[in-house]
Amino acid sequence: MMNGSEYIESLRKLNTKVYAFGEEVKDLVDNPLFQPHINSAALTYDMAHDPMFEDLVTAVSHLTGKRINRFTHIHQSTEDLVKKVKMLRMIAQRTGSCFQRCVGFDALNAVYTTTYDMDKKLGTDYHKRLVDFLLYVQENDVMVAGAMTDPKGDRSLRPSKQADPDLFVRVVEKNEKGIVIRGAKAHMTGIVNSHEMLIMPTTALTAEDAEYAVSCAVPVDAPGIIHIFGRQSNDSRKAGKIDQGNARFGIVGGEALTILEDVFVPWEKVFMCGEWEFAGSMVEFFASYHRQNYGGCKGGVSDVIIGATAAIADYNGAAKASHVRDKVTEMIHLTETLYAGSIACSAEGRPTPSGAYFVDPMLANITKQNVTRFIYEICRLSHDVAGGFIATLPSEDDLFSPEIGHYVDKYFKGVANIPSETRFRMARLIENITAGTALVESMHGAGSPQAQRVMIMRQGNVEQKKKLARDLAGIPDNS
Ligand code: SF4
Ligand code: FE
Repeated sequence: MMNGSEYIESLRKLNTKVYAFGEEVKDLVDNPLFQPHINSAALTYDMAHDPMFEDLVTAVSHLTGKRINRFTHIHQSTEDLVKKVKMLRMIAQRTGSCFQRCVGFDALNAVYTTTYDMDKKLGTDYHKRLVDFLLYVQENDVMVAGAMTDPKGDRSLRPSKQADPDLFVRVVEKNEKGIVIRGAKAHMTGIVNSHEMLIMPTTALTAEDAEYAVSCAVPVDAPGIIHIFGRQSNDSRKAGKIDQGNARFGIVGGEALTILEDVFVPWEKVFMCGEWEFAGSMVEFFASYHRQNYGGCKGGVSDVIIGATAAIADYNGAAKASHVRDKVTEMIHLTETLYAGSIACSAEGRPTPSGAYFVDPMLANITKQNVTRFIYEICRLSHDVAGGFIATLPSEDDLFSPEIGHYVDKYFKGVANIPSETRFRMARLIENITAGTALVESMHGAGSPQAQRVMIMRQGNVEQKKKLARDLAGIPDNS
């Protein structure tokens, strides 16, 4: 297992082609734009070496019997699923931000399970290839970026009906050595500081869309790959210390648009090529695994929001007001409800035919649906308690200005014994987590709310519920 510094050094060996603000980035690892995201991912490596966290952040490989970082593990029990959620909450409590590695973790589990099912039904040999890739990932502690969401173009049209055929990733060539893929993947969490990407289809497909049924692994710096880094709500503050709010770990995951311009993938790293009937189940496995996470990681981030909100109430002299205590109580209630959902879908997990454990998909979707609402409410309550100054605060340069700094210090003071800088720092942390890009991530990360509602309705078994009602009302079944 690598530690954090070894992980950071490993990134220097890559030739990842990244663009940001219209220019190619030459110094990714040392560039302040990327450093917080890299630090956040590095913590997933460092914590695996800390005896205090080892039980959650490591696991024993079912392939080799060796101790591995949990982010490269295939879940072998409901205990593994529960530990995953606990691990995510614990890491998020320390980063206050996304640490990105869960997407690849979930992709590995989803592709592991689906390739097993495909081979059983179709006689293909995809599962063995995935296991070989997994061995490489586990042995080298590889950071894998899960790559699912396609740009999607006109949302009313299927992939093969789009005006531009590249709006979903597709296979444009097959030869004896491998395949060539073209298209792009959007919202790629952690991609610029990952080693490999694991590509999956973005939606269920039909026979007409068979060329879009592709899953494969490819290094993030393979020829033909370009990453265009996304802007975040505070990225121009990244060179500062206070104004960024969370200078060490940043804000959400550092997402990018990843262009795949005729990228060659050897057959040994291809895990689906044309088997459109299995695209839907790969998507559903991945989506449910990823939705399982959100009461864990967002629970941990909410713990930080609650702490910051209670602290700012102290600094404002408002902590004893009964409505403030009630609002903090509500924030705790919402956070623990999210966490309860993640634990429940894990505890109710079941083994798949591959042996990998899968979460209860209904409860996982409910959890993520709750995240799309509760995080907004938690942030709303935080803004309510903190006060409007979190949105109108001058910059750290004004606070430290030799000419006007004493005014800023004097008039942004709360209770007398708390330095203004302390109040500044906490306000910026709240702004960072609650008022920008991170909030949107709670809505659309792991799939937009409507995607969860489709799965909730599909699994809701309304007909059986109607029968329960008919039985009690004394109405015969055929009425
Ligand atoms: Fe992991 Fe949460 Fe980031 Fe998704 S948003 S990658 S679950 S930390
Ligand atoms: Fe996410």
